[in-house]
Amino acid sequence: APGGTTDLSRLVRDAQALLEVSTTRHARVQFDLGTGLPPVRADNDQVRRVLVNLVMNAGEAVGDGGRVVVRAGMAEVTGAESAEHFRLAPAPGEYVLLSVTDDGPGIPTEAMGRLFDPFFTTKFPGRGLGLAAVLGIVKTHRGGIRVESAAGRGTTFEVYWPPASPATR
Ligand code: ADP
Ligand code: MG
Repeated sequence: APGGTTDLSRLVRDAQALLEVSTTRHARVQFDLGTGLPPVRADNDQVRRVLVNLVMNAGEAVGDGGRVVVRAGMAEVTGAESAEHFRLAPAPGEYVLLSVTDDGPGIPTEAMGRLFDPFFTTKFPGRGLGLAAVLGIVKTHRGGIRVESAAGRGTTFEVYWPPASPATR
């Protein structure tokens, strides 16, 4: 896995102003950041790239007065979870969870399977490379990705980051 460790809460806090500006045209961004989270085994720039891609998509999905919530916290994966909605199922264990929720239109069922394909986009002009990059980064870090979406209610992307082992912190 790539080197470096990242304090997720701090990274989100440091990126807060940038994230607010990049979505501020119409959306409000809120933050719910856990304290005392262990660092994750991932390079700062790569984690930021994942965060920015997800928040930009959320900001583009919501309408005027829309809401985007960025959360960081701990999550336990037991392996007993339904595989449903996992695009990348994490191995059982403890993870630091980064999630981005929006109250946009949601993702049509028929698009769910193709979201992370390079060049899949429903935007004009869209590049369809954001989620492909997100998937590549998270895979490299042996993390996980889950997407939950409900038509007319919104979407949540969850990224599971493995904590750095104590020896490498
Ligand atoms: P792009 O943003 O250039 O279209 P992405 O790879 O970032 O490319 O996203 C691919 C597609 O996934 C988008 O075009 C959109 O259809 C869908 N998508 C991603 N995030 C969301 C979201 N939060 N709400 C609804 N659809 C989304
Ligand atoms: Mg995008």
